[in-house]
Amino acid sequence: MSQIRKDVFTGRWVIMAETTTVQLSDFHFKRFIRDPTFCPFCENNEASTPPEVFAIRNPGSSPNRPGWSVRVVPNSDPRLRIEGKLGQRADGFHDLMNGVGAHEIIAETPRHGCSVHELEIHEISAVIRAYIARMVDLEGDKRIRYVLIFKNHGEEAGAHTISHSISHLMALPVTPRAVKTKLITARDYFALKERCIYCDVLQQEQKERKRLIAENEDFVAFAPFASRFPFEMAVFPKSHNSSFSRISSGQVDGLSRILRGILRKLDHTLGPPYNLSLQDRPFLRPRTGYWNTIEDDFHWHLEILPQIARITGFEWASGFFYNPVPPEIAAGCLSAVADD
Ligand SMILES: [Zn+2]
Ligand SMILES: [Zn+2]
Repeated sequence: MSQIRKDVFTGRWVIMAETTTVQLSDFHFKRFIRDPTFCPFCENNEASTPPEVFAIRNPGSSPNRPGWSVRVVPNSDPRLRIEGKLGQRADGFHDLMNGVGAHEIIAETPRHGCSVHELEIHEISAVIRAYIARMVDLEGDKRIRYVLIFKNHGEEAGAHTISHSISHLMALPVTPRAVKTKLITARDYFALKERCIYCDVLQQEQKERKRLIAENEDFVAFAPFASRFPFEMAVFPKSHNSSFSRISSGQVDGLSRILRGILRKLDHTLGPPYNLSLQDRPFLRPRTGYWNTIEDDFHWHLEILPQIARITGFEWASGFFYNPVPPEIAAGCLSAVADD
């Protein structure tokens, strides 16, 4: 019989198929093919993007010239703009504000032909350091409450116009609902038990090991109990930390290693399009009595969602998900891929 599983972090329900094996050939999706035409994110094409806001550069190189390993630029077609006031106001029953924020593109490598799992560890570490530098900078802008960093890998994951390996950064004047649901659940659990819900779940996953995909000294990756998508993965720091930007330089390398490892496993198993996102806490703007325990109750993490199952009327209408591959099966397939 299938199971209806509850995601303890969000309260979301997932119908998990009853299956003990998985046929990888049953999944149909377009493999990621890199468009070889002109690309503004390749080295030597720096003049084709807006001026960079941050870069990790070789000594002696100049801004907006070649000689970088990671380069951050404003999106030339931004969804939100950094200029102007928020202008929060009402329209009868409705609330609205101006589209103020930031939308930046992080070019993860100067080379067109590489995905994250094909980069060197020190190159991935440079990408993570760029994420941290941008977050720390944007925290100084009092209009911004939340920075969302995400990746769309492959056309079916939303990367239809850009095939260079990039991440998106969106600085938002509000905390996204999906994150807020997690924050409220974590806060309520802490109020009851005085423990972090994520630390408690990590302890169980590390003990049981049936959904574990990879681990190193500082990080653990597993297939979440109520995974929404086949081969969904989550990465957590082992020691409690509410804020991604506070990780140590040693942890940056640990994160690079586990991330490259699990993305290689995913590529070698199935090679699907996927979305990756950083689930971090919001900036701690004064809001009396609201996020008092957030540093103790929330635990930042990464989510990797392969896009191989269509979202249908059922998911849109109910908020339920249907997952044909139980996470225990997915973790078995992924952890069987040899590390290299
Ligand atoms: Zn390129
Ligand atoms: Zn924790």
